[in-house]
Amino acid sequence: MPATAENLRDLHHLHQRARALRDRLTSGPKTVAARQAALQIRQNELETAKKALQEAKVLLKKHEHLLQGVETKIDDYKVKLNQVKKNEEYKAIQNQIAHDASSKSKFEEDILHAFDTIDEKAKEVARLEAEVKRAGDEIANLKKQIDDQAASQAAQLRELEAAIIAGESIIPEAHRDQYRRIIARYGADALAACEGPDGACLGCYTAVTAQVMNELINGVSLSFCMSCGRLLYLAEPELVSTRRTV
Ligand SMILES: [Zn+2]
Repeated sequence: MPATAENLRDLHHLHQRARALRDRLTSGPKTVAARQAALQIRQNELETAKKALQEAKVLLKKHEHLLQGVETKIDDYKVKLNQVKKNEEYKAIQNQIAHDASSKSKFEEDILHAFDTIDEKAKEVARLEAEVKRAGDEIANLKKQIDDQAASQAAQLRELEAAIIAGESIIPEAHRDQYRRIIARYGADALAACEGPDGACLGCYTAVTAQVMNELINGVSLSFCMSCGRLLYLAEPELVSTRRTV
C-alpha cells in the first residue's frame, strides 16, 4: 500500500478514533471514583450527624435525671415542711424549696431544648441517609452502565488497534523509527494535515517550505514538518485541487 495522502489521513483518523475510545474507557472509571470520593464525604457527614444525635439523646437523659432528682428533693422538703415546729426551720425549708424550684424550671427548659436538638439532629440524619442512598444507587447504575459498555468498547479498540497496525504498513522501513518517535511524543496527533495556500502544518501552524509542499504534492516519499516533526499529509482541498490540475 503506498503512503498516499488518503492513506495517511486514514491512519491519522484511526489513531484519533482509538484515542477517543481509550479516553472513554478511562474516563468512566474516573467518574465513578470521583463520585465515590464525594459519597465518602457524605458518609462521613452522616456518621458525624448520627454521633451528634446520640450525644443529644444522652444529654436529654442527663437533664431528665437532674429534673427527677430535684423533684424528689422538693417532695422531701414538702414532707419535712409539715413536720417542723419552729418558724425559722420552716422559713429555711421554704427557701430551699424556692431555690430548688428555680433549678427545676431550668432543667425543664434544658429538656425542651434537648428535644428540639434531637428533632433537628434526627432530621439531619434522615436527610443525609437519603442522600447517601441516592448517591450510592446512582453510582451503582453508572458502574453497571460503564461495565456494560466497556466490553464492546474494548473490542472496538482492539479492532482499531489492528487496523492501525495494518495502516502502518504504508510507512516505509526507512521511516519506521522516526514514526515511532513521533507517535511516542504526540500520540494520536503524530500526523498532521498540511493546509492553506502556502501550506501550514496543522500540528504546529508553521508554514512548510516550498520543497516540502512539492514533496507532498508529488507524494514520492514521506514528509515531516521541519518545525514540530509531525508526519505530514495534504489536506483534502489541496488534494482535490491538485488532482484537478493534474
Ligand atoms: Zn508542524
